[in-house]
Amino acid sequence: MSIKKELQISEETQKFLESNHLLYINGEWKQSSSGEYIEVIDPATENNIAKVQSGNSEDIDCAVQAAREALTGEWSKITSHDRAQILHRLSDEIESNFSVLSELEVLDNGMPMQLAQYSIASHGVTLLRYYASWAPKIHGKTIPVSPGGAMNGESLTYTKREPIGVVGAIIPWNSPLIFAILKLAPALAAGCTLVLKPAELTPLTALYFGHLIEKSGIPKGVVNIVTGLGETAGDALAKHKDVDKITFTGSTEVGKKIVSSSVGNLKKVTLELGGKSPVVIFKDADLEKTVPGVARACFFLQGQNCMAGTRVFVHEDIHDELVQGVKEMAESFQIGHGLIESNDFGPLISENQRNRVLKYIEQGMAEGANLVYGGKKINEKGFFIQPTIFTEVTGEMKIAKEEIFGPVLSIEKFGNESLEEIAKRANSTTYGLSGSVWTNDISIGHRMAALIDSGQVSINCHAAVDSAIPFGGNKQSGWGREFGEEGLDSYLKTKATTIMY
Ligand code: NDP
Repeated sequence: MSIKKELQISEETQKFLESNHLLYINGEWKQSSSGEYIEVIDPATENNIAKVQSGNSEDIDCAVQAAREALTGEWSKITSHDRAQILHRLSDEIESNFSVLSELEVLDNGMPMQLAQYSIASHGVTLLRYYASWAPKIHGKTIPVSPGGAMNGESLTYTKREPIGVVGAIIPWNSPLIFAILKLAPALAAGCTLVLKPAELTPLTALYFGHLIEKSGIPKGVVNIVTGLGETAGDALAKHKDVDKITFTGSTEVGKKIVSSSVGNLKKVTLELGGKSPVVIFKDADLEKTVPGVARACFFLQGQNCMAGTRVFVHEDIHDELVQGVKEMAESFQIGHGLIESNDFGPLISENQRNRVLKYIEQGMAEGANLVYGGKKINEKGFFIQPTIFTEVTGEMKIAKEEIFGPVLSIEKFGNESLEEIAKRANSTTYGLSGSVWTNDISIGHRMAALIDSGQVSINCHAAVDSAIPFGGNKQSGWGREFGEEGLDSYLKTKATTIMY
């Protein structure tokens, strides 16, 4: 794997990397009061590619104040049609700057170029346009009741849907630009203002996005971007008394901290957390579709994906054929730097993440799972690791229970157990985010999907994500839903007004 010679980035991307990266607060680019920086590393080469400000609680305070003032300023006076136009303009900006954003996403996160382009086009741009079209459709109801015993016709109650207020958005590193947009688009459609704290490992696309926000005519203070560490900037935002809602995507462990931090002013909280999603394959499944589907479900984004289908339960009659097929898919991945367009499998995000994943692999072997493929780091610069497949996994093993957040697939067999017994095994983790069922029998498909305790289940595909499909977790995978109408709802509050006449 020789990568460095072949890398090419555009002049615009190079210029941005070399620029002075500041915090975006109240429509201006500012130095952090901490005087400290965070080095940004390309996980595929381990090269330092930029340094950004390490914002602190003072910076968060300024950003929240700006967002609070903007909430009742010019932003509150513009019509919902104008809010929609602004989101469309922002979407146009993303389309015009598509190649720079894609290159930055690849350099910052390590994802393959094809994936960066696909996700920016089909989730970034589409999400903004989807929520833009919601903005003018937000309205309340009239309710024909007679509170306090008033006669019918002598009173009227109507409801209004109002923006929830100042939103703090804390996002992870695994799909940085899309998570920024997933928080911003419904928040702005609803009329909220926002303070965004990107992950320390991947701040670049959020900052570039800040320049596009500036160009798109969003009034000052409506969107503020503070790069910084979770335990300082993130914690200050989660605890801030003048923030009305936190929307968080990240680990279950930090999600629990966010809940404690929100107690001070009982701010509303939406959480998208970890997962350990089951993939249940019946013996009548079409293996030509199932094999690539299973490989993608687990190895997409090198397994650093909350929806990843990391636990396969397959009928014993087709077990060997499925394992062989998925192994051949894993062998066929082109591993390397995402800027080389033929590569479809990149590095993990950091050395820490790779060590964590390798430790799980060691534990899997120590607990008696059978390593069929992979399991090793690739000894080149960059945090690469092989896609890894285990068979003979049992539900008690750590690799079957815990979220690894890396390219490690555990395969278990089932025989003639009932659907309920299979579901019991599939549901035996603390998570409940996603899942899939593979079968040609429509009634088994629906019955099994109903038994899987997850916010999202797919039949003959995995992790079907679309702007209009609600997404979120059961159990310890989260609170609330994002995407779709429900995603918008969480940025709105209802006010009921009653008139007696
Ligand atoms: P973390 O939970 O560590 O971090 C997420 C964000 O929270 C980062 O911006 C982080 O900052 C910040 N943060 C860390 N500590 C605090 C704190 N005490 N108070 C406030 N903010 C804090 O997750 P990762 O970024 O490491 O992402 C991986 C995890 O996220 C996986 O477990 C994965 O399952 C989950 N995830 C879930 C998704 C979903 O939709 N359900 C999607 C993507 C990821 P910093 O970067 O400085 O640490």
